[in-house]
Amino acid sequence: MARTRKPKLAVWKFSSCDGCQLSLLDCEDELLAVAGAVEIANFLEASRAVVKGPYDLSLVEGSITTPHDAERIHAVRRASKFLVTIGACATAGGIQALRNFKDVKEFLSIVYARPDYINTLGKSSPIADHVHVDFELRGCPINKRQLLDVVSAFLHGRKPNTPAHSVCVECKQRGTVCVMVAQGVPCLGPVTQAGCGAICPAYARGCYGCFGPKETPNTVSLSEWWGHLGVASADLVRAFRGFNAYAEAFRKESERHER
Ligand code: SF4
Ligand code: SF4
Repeated sequence: MARTRKPKLAVWKFSSCDGCQLSLLDCEDELLAVAGAVEIANFLEASRAVVKGPYDLSLVEGSITTPHDAERIHAVRRASKFLVTIGACATAGGIQALRNFKDVKEFLSIVYARPDYINTLGKSSPIADHVHVDFELRGCPINKRQLLDVVSAFLHGRKPNTPAHSVCVECKQRGTVCVMVAQGVPCLGPVTQAGCGAICPAYARGCYGCFGPKETPNTVSLSEWWGHLGVASADLVRAFRGFNAYAEAFRKESERHER
């Protein structure tokens, strides 16, 4: 009887901290089930053994920050049937996209003794700015259960079951009293995509938006509310310039308060 070939999984790193790849390794028990269902063909964080492509599913971590990145992502795309970007770097440019608001050459001259050795682009950009992406999984880092759902969705030919609603909904689901309403703590939850389980408000602190903007976020209204709480424009700029500073909705809102 002919044996069915397991789908080949590849995990690729671009400019990033490796935290999202670690989320996959952190799956521990579930990782064994994943390893049973797919052939882990290219995952340098886990093994030096590399199986040649093409790959059925590629998970891409990190943003494009160098000319080499910009070239390599096209080779990854060509080798991948289905390409999923994971984490804030890959989906929004990451914390390194803070450079996009400044002059990179000036940073280079201040930070490095020999800036001429550094070959970098003026901007950090998400993978979708360079190649077609089949699905984006948000978070800094991503939630491991959502990652497993994406892999499982791929294996079963269904749509990933990730929510488009805000962190506020998760707050209600776990019965957390709203820190913004009850304690006047500024919180980005209303404009941030769910996925973490509303961890921060459960510990009496505001959300700082690590899962990036939700679908159709009303950032203008939230900023107005933060204004009522006494938050200054400069602090609003800083709040929207976190891990997802270059995600369009957060970028535009931060720029609005910079004027
Ligand atoms: S604490 Fe934040 S995330 Fe939770 S309901 Fe209030 S505004 Fe929304
Ligand atoms: S910052 Fe917001 S999205 Fe990130 S873990 Fe905290 S509550 Fe969740």
